[in-house]
Amino acid sequence: AQPSQVLPLQGGKVEVGETQEGNGTRPLLDIRGIDQELVEKIEYDALVWSSLHGLVVGDKSVQRSGKVPGVGMVHAPFALLPMPFPESHWKQACELAPIFNELVDRVSLDAKFLQDSLSRTKKADAFTSRLLDIHSKMVEINKKEDIRLGLLRSDYMVDEQTKLLLQIETNTISCSFPGLGCLVSDLHRSLLNHYGEFLALDSKRVPNNPAASQFVEALAKAWTEYNNPRAVVMLVVQADERNMKTLAEIDAEGELLPDGTLVVGGQAIAVVYFRAGYTPNDYPSESEWRARLLMEQSSAIKCPSISYHLAGTKKIQQELVKPNVLERFVDNKEDIAKLRKCFAGLWSLDDSDIVKDAIERPGLYVMKPQREGGGNNIYGNDVREALMRLQKEGSEADAAYILMQRIFPTVSHTFLMRNGICYKDDTVSELGIYGAYLRNKEKVILNDQCGYLMRTKASSSDEGGVAAGFAVLDSLYLT
Ligand code: ADP
Ligand code: MG
Ligand code: MG
Repeated sequence: AQPSQVLPLQGGKVEVGETQEGNGTRPLLDIRGIDQELVEKIEYDALVWSSLHGLVVGDKSVQRSGKVPGVGMVHAPFALLPMPFPESHWKQACELAPIFNELVDRVSLDAKFLQDSLSRTKKADAFTSRLLDIHSKMVEINKKEDIRLGLLRSDYMVDEQTKLLLQIETNTISCSFPGLGCLVSDLHRSLLNHYGEFLALDSKRVPNNPAASQFVEALAKAWTEYNNPRAVVMLVVQADERNMKTLAEIDAEGELLPDGTLVVGGQAIAVVYFRAGYTPNDYPSESEWRARLLMEQSSAIKCPSISYHLAGTKKIQQELVKPNVLERFVDNKEDIAKLRKCFAGLWSLDDSDIVKDAIERPGLYVMKPQREGGGNNIYGNDVREALMRLQKEGSEADAAYILMQRIFPTVSHTFLMRNGICYKDDTVSELGIYGAYLRNKEKVILNDQCGYLMRTKASSSDEGGVAAGFAVLDSLYLT
């Protein structure tokens, strides 16, 4: 990421309240003209609010942070004001949530589709290969997941030129920020309650964001379905977090009872919620893989199961875009049309015409491996180099990747707060919509849209992760 420009704000009149005119590219709130004194007041209030309401993360510069709860906190990076976003696109994204929930569930049940689609990727990507091995073992023992819980997030960008809402990806494991994302919406509403009059903005146009409470409710409902009052919900986390279980600890302390019950540290486990396990870094030894397999074999409700995890891979996303594939999983024609409308161009690297075009015009593509958590994609001239290298090698290594049409969202000027400092930058935004899905055999208990996550990043930066340091948390202002 390129460094942002530190604020030297020009004073001046607040230039706000413009609704979308003409082609609708004019931002509602033009921050260039906001009076500096006013911005400083808002900044100060925002930082106080963050501290009081727990819009904070561990501060990596404090040594004991992350080891001792409550020690070494800093506010999460956030945008000072909510990002204008067209209401029609917002509604469209919300409507898609239950459709994607159902789609993931249906895909997860088709073991052959998952294995076949990922068969070439398996040879080229050791991590995906290990996940597929666990999946194969479950198929072999005919393991059934009667109770299935998905806590998902579908991410979108609005393409500036076509004005289309296009999907970036669906996340099926460890979807980040349902907690902090809600707080940013609260922060923005609170700031607009105080300063909205000066900014000509109405706090009611920041949509309510119940992501955290609805995810918790979904976990609780899953726990109820498991129907063992003595069993608990276990959070699987990365090392250096407390009061939860790491994969290595689960390997050391976990066991399977003959009836399939997972017991960890003497506690029966009803629901396993993965906040880790999505990156190869989470599996430094065989111990972590053993733990993953142990949990998968158990009757505990896995969020996600190995099938849900695989259904969220970029390769599967690319397969679903191919003609007549969606039809295998979705019955309703209108739902199919809605899904297709948000699909961007996605291609396998065995499509030689596309590879040729991507080498000629690499800026129009993003190259993606089967990874999660941000920071893994290839952009710009690196796409050309990577494709040419793969061609020269002539191996199966290309199957580790997919190609995606690069989306170019509208650029707007934004105030970004990081480490107590306000930066002004040209930014683009990505809207994530959370979804919760819970079913027990034929009974669908939950299939809901549950709040949202707006992430805003410098337009000069390719990647978008907040934790990875590229983006800030944001909320949306309906226009
Ligand atoms: P991950 O699973 O690691 O989050 P993503 O597919 O979401 O992978 O890509 C990471 C980031 O890269 C996104 O948040 C977005 O900012 C950017 N990105 C991904 N795909 C595209 C695309 N097609 N066009 C533009 N930017 C993209
Ligand atoms: Mg992802
Ligand atoms: Mg992503």
